[in-house]
Amino acid sequence: VATKETLGFQAEVKQLLQLMIHSLYSNKEIFLRELISNASDAADKLRFEGIEHPEWYGDDPDLKIKVSFDKAARTITISDNGIGMSRDEVIANLGTIARSGTKEFFTKLSGDQQKDAALIGQFGVGFYSAFIVADRITVDTRRAGLPAKDGIRWESDGSGEFTVEAIELAQRGTSITMHLREGEDDFLATYKLKSIIRKYSDHISLPIQMNKEEWDEDKKEQVIQDELESINQSSALWARSKSEITEEQFAEFYKNLSHDYENPLCYSLNRVEGRSEFTQLLYVPARAPFDLWDRNKRGGIKLYVKRVFIMDDAEQLMPMYLRFVTGVIDSVDLPLNVSREILQESRDVKVIRESATKRVLTMLEELANSEDEAKKEKYRSFWTEFGQVLKEGIGEDQGNQERILKLLRFASTHIESGEQTVSLADYIARMKEGQDKIYYVTGDTVNAAKNSPHLEIFRKKGVEVLLLSDRVDEWMLSFFTEFDGKHMTSVAKGGLDLGNLSDEKEKKEHEETEKSFKDLLDRMKLALTDRVKDVRVTFRLTDSPACLVSDENELSGNLLRMLKAAGQ
Ligand code: ADP
Ligand code: MG
Repeated sequence: VATKETLGFQAEVKQLLQLMIHSLYSNKEIFLRELISNASDAADKLRFEGIEHPEWYGDDPDLKIKVSFDKAARTITISDNGIGMSRDEVIANLGTIARSGTKEFFTKLSGDQQKDAALIGQFGVGFYSAFIVADRITVDTRRAGLPAKDGIRWESDGSGEFTVEAIELAQRGTSITMHLREGEDDFLATYKLKSIIRKYSDHISLPIQMNKEEWDEDKKEQVIQDELESINQSSALWARSKSEITEEQFAEFYKNLSHDYENPLCYSLNRVEGRSEFTQLLYVPARAPFDLWDRNKRGGIKLYVKRVFIMDDAEQLMPMYLRFVTGVIDSVDLPLNVSREILQESRDVKVIRESATKRVLTMLEELANSEDEAKKEKYRSFWTEFGQVLKEGIGEDQGNQERILKLLRFASTHIESGEQTVSLADYIARMKEGQDKIYYVTGDTVNAAKNSPHLEIFRKKGVEVLLLSDRVDEWMLSFFTEFDGKHMTSVAKGGLDLGNLSDEKEKKEHEETEKSFKDLLDRMKLALTDRVKDVRVTFRLTDSPACLVSDENELSGNLLRMLKAAGQ
């Protein structure tokens, strides 16, 4: 006799369900996309594990998804013949949120429906979205390779508990039946389901089938037939030719891949042939995911080998500083049994990563250098979302440093708003006659930088100064000292040499002033012996009486504060 066991959802799942049902309601049809995407993942997993266990396919080798409904019972069923789940897997996958960062997710929730809906999407908790329209869900599943008696039925009304029991299942795979809530009968129609599938899941690489519906002359109505038909195109999007793919299809594919609800900022599909052969479809999102700064954040590249899904989050395929990029890379050369360890060492992977990196930089350059206002605006918005991450590339990817430098944008004394819109080339174009350096000042915030007393002399002389206030800036500056032959020079360091910016008369005056203050300086040096290294007359201040500067070769005040904060 099969025993039925009742288990409680993890507390987070309960919270999530509550939230989901209320905040995603206006977008409820996405449940179908999520369940189909899970079915497609399950097929991918079987293809992958099936390489070592060909016997698991048995007499059911063609992987597919079937969507059907029962008007009288008011149910929709989505079935697949993919990998299926064992009892332990069902309990772990459909009772908890396994992903790391759950806590953080909950702290990020704002109560703003639009924003929270985006978070839920990014979080990838698709299965639970079925409860938006269903008040009871039954999952029948059997893992590939297990006998018929090891089928499992999972059932829940989404309120706090679920049941699991052993059942006899003739076929491997998973079948999910949703018992619709009151008022959701709209979904019980072939045309409705078909149109949602086409909208969200057209690119899914295995057939999504439904029963055909035909006009019956005798009954004078549409009648559902036994015969099945495929609803989607069912070829991998990236394998199709670019010209056959619409903008919407590209966008929809992205949304599926990334769980984003917004369109991507830009994308690129291309095939690379040569020493290594592969296809890459890469997207830059419009908005930063909530876990962009999470050190454990997984990368966004899915690796396929000859259309067989190999792994999610193949971090070796994209450098860290481009971790916001999502997409698919499909290689012809890598072995199907490739592991993360092998990836680490593979020369093919190195070639792929270099090519993917260049592709992304090219996409960004196209936006940054465009004359088109819309594209320029896209680059501005890219910079706001991801600029700080891109800066990491200055240190991380010295091979592409020149290209990345040109993509940098800074706040400057030239821009009232404090926005980061000034490129190094813009700065150089505005340099004063005789100026041969790029001046910058650092601060905890852009306002602190802007109000630095070090800037007084530059204001007076009308020389532009870059305002650096991002945490990574000082670190970044330790990796590049000049751009286009112009030295990067902190206005807060050492004896400021304004070079040809001061004229002969000024120089003379300065020398005389220094002489006349010599006594005072000596007394001050004595009084401050153990506190400062030197006391100097300065000409860089116009309003403030004095300021502290760090030595040419010393860590700047800001970097010192950072290191201290990090406990060093
Ligand atoms: P995600 O797909 O992002 O992991 P979901 O909430 O959509 O999150 O699904 C949770 C987990 O449940 C999946 O990772 C998978 O392990 C399991 N699962 C869901 N649907 C299926 C299915 N049709 N076949 C096999 N496993 C499934
Ligand atoms: Mg999913």
